[in-house]
Amino acid sequence: MNRCQRSVCSFRRGFGLRMAQCTDRVIGKILAGWRYDISGLAPEMRGDYEAHLAECEFCHKRQLLHRGIDIGLMALASASMIVFLLAYGVIRHFHPSHAFLLEIGALGGFLLSMLLWLLVAVATPAPLVVKDVAMFGARVGLEKLPDEIRDRIPEDLRLKISGQE
Ligand SMILES: [Zn+2]
Repeated sequence: MNRCQRSVCSFRRGFGLRMAQCTDRVIGKILAGWRYDISGLAPEMRGDYEAHLAECEFCHKRQLLHRGIDIGLMALASASMIVFLLAYGVIRHFHPSHAFLLEIGALGGFLLSMLLWLLVAVATPAPLVVKDVAMFGARVGLEKLPDEIRDRIPEDLRLKISGQE
């Protein structure tokens, strides 16, 4: 592929106008292979990729999209788990005819949703993103706690939350 990389090039202007192109196809391809997740890389190896994600609008948007999909999938699986649990509760409560079959169906749906949730959790970095957000929330909450309560939290846990391990 020898497409012109210059943004002013008229060759791809027609279809390049709306969608930005990757500024470095080699790095872009590697990133795409990782689904734009570099959280598993050692910090000293991330530099180039982080720099590229910062300067390349195309890859940055893709990264946001993929993380959005991951979190969306987990949210969907969680919602579906709740729905199946609710359905199970409703069946137990009202005892409709064929209650047993319906219960099995609801439990099966619940287990399937849980499996999906686990698959997404294992296969994607979404939990890392969620963990980062949770850690940030915990840090903010910790700062707002009154001193006497904060002193009761074990010190190693406090250091972990504030990121000073
Ligand atoms: Zn790129």
